Amino acid sequence: MLENIKVKINIQKYIIILLLLFLIVIPMSFGVPTQPKIISRNKWKANNPICTLEKQPYFNMITIHHTATSNTQSDSENIVRSIQKYHQKERKWCDIGYHFLIDKNGKIYEGRPLWAIGAHVAKHNIGNIGIALIGNYEETMPSNKSIEALTDLVAWLAYNYNIPIGNIKGHKDFSNTLCPGKHLYSLLPKIKRKVASTVYGFGNGFGKAVWWGIYSDYWSSNKSVWEKQIREAFNVLKELGIDTVFFMVKDPWGYAYYNSSILPLSNKYDWDPLKYIIKYCREYNISIHVYINVLAEGDSEPNDYLKSNLDIALRDQNDKILGWVDPSSEKHLKRIISIIREILEKYNVDGIQLDRIRLPGNAHILPITEKEFREEYGLAPSQDWKKWIDFKADKLTTFVKKIREAIKEFNPDIRFSAAVIPNSLRAKTVLAQDWQKWLRKGILDFVAIMSYSSSEIGFENYLNDAVEASNGTRPVYLGIGVFMSDMDSDMLKKEIIKSFENVDIYGVVFFNVDTLLKDKVKRAVIKETLSKLNYDIELSEGKNNTLLYFVGGGILLLVLTLLFLLKITVFRKKEK
Ligand SMILES: [Zn+2]
Repeated sequence: MLENIKVKINIQKYIIILLLLFLIVIPMSFGVPTQPKIISRNKWKANNPICTLEKQPYFNMITIHHTATSNTQSDSENIVRSIQKYHQKERKWCDIGYHFLIDKNGKIYEGRPLWAIGAHVAKHNIGNIGIALIGNYEETMPSNKSIEALTDLVAWLAYNYNIPIGNIKGHKDFSNTLCPGKHLYSLLPKIKRKVASTVYGFGNGFGKAVWWGIYSDYWSSNKSVWEKQIREAFNVLKELGIDTVFFMVKDPWGYAYYNSSILPLSNKYDWDPLKYIIKYCREYNISIHVYINVLAEGDSEPNDYLKSNLDIALRDQNDKILGWVDPSSEKHLKRIISIIREILEKYNVDGIQLDRIRLPGNAHILPITEKEFREEYGLAPSQDWKKWIDFKADKLTTFVKKIREAIKEFNPDIRFSAAVIPNSLRAKTVLAQDWQKWLRKGILDFVAIMSYSSSEIGFENYLNDAVEASNGTRPVYLGIGVFMSDMDSDMLKKEIIKSFENVDIYGVVFFNVDTLLKDKVKRAVIKETLSKLNYDIELSEGKNNTLLYFVGGGILLLVLTLLFLLKITVFRKKEK
């Protein structure tokens, strides 16, 4: 009997220890949006549909509404029932028009089943998910709780059904109506940014990231010095409020900064740098995407791998072999996919980013692409430049698409992005990098544009092009060239603020970490500018208490556990 009690106590103790560990681990890992609590039709005693509902063929849009009902009513179940009654009896619809309704307390009610085509935007119901906030938001601001619930619900739906961020709309985007009310409508840009942050694992409302390679002389080859440098770097990142690291794992010369069985390891390090970076990212609550130089294999001249695969190497106008690979090479595609698989199998990363996913400016001969072009059109590239430009770009697009498929097949939660050249037209026509298409077709989850410029007009041009090219479909993050020696404090500040103020820009990426560590003036400017950005959705009602509840709950649990363990000790003494 006593034995049994002891066993029981031990089990309880382990459960509590596990619970505590769980509590500590939760905030450290980057999850994906989860389904918020939804009050089912049964719960609010919905009527059955009065005719047969039609099935949604796909989902590609979310539209936000208000119910335009009184703001003083508080019996939400009753309101939802009366809206259903109105839609069925007066409007003669099969069922309530919206798929979800949200009340002032942030309670989410299931409306028309999600699988069915709704009735909420005339002529635009197919593929469109309708969400209505209960109340009239032409008159007042919605409550914090309802906006939080709306953001969670939209993030979950957008993530689950791969709905482009740009397709999160307000009813008035389609027709002449006040719905969802000017107050709620004015919050949509910030809601979209919050949703993008959750869906793509990038910050909280406005992404603040860095590109980080450790190939420069700045980084020591002595392990203990290096570890100290890394620790310092993370302290700086935290101080600046950086939420995402893009860490280089394959450089343009073909060397690896992780434990690879495919690539030669960088001879700077005889340990596994990526392992440390991930460890610190988790510790500092920063998300980690790794970036891979895809088509560069040696850069100015071929590396050993390319030397033994010269049939896939690009050449310049003098027939000189370049350290770059033809994007039509199946062999190289396979190699890149196995590198990515190797990383995903060995490491816990949040995303994969492609870099040097373009031709070099001096590429003249693309041996495989050219051969395939001749086979398809019976022409030499010089006989039809327009066709040739599209053909090259399509080849690279296929390359990127196949990488996406491989990644998402391995784990759909891994975010997939590319670092791209600013000026989308030049990127496509000169470098075969059609990132406008990659965004619009959903081949990438987001892009980070290397929009480095120390002139106001230059940066503005890049920004405007980015907004136009993305067309609001998927997030764009602008690269800020802090490394540029002629980038002064004023310009640095302007670039951050300009990016933040444009609702179609979802964040900034600083290039690179070395400068942030070496240049204290620039660092101070970044810190001050970022700390003043307000990306919270602020409403009239008080502050967000979620964190407070969380901390409070944690402390309470800790105290209870201590009391419990104390009791066990007393109990044990009694046993003796
Ligand atoms: Zn509406």
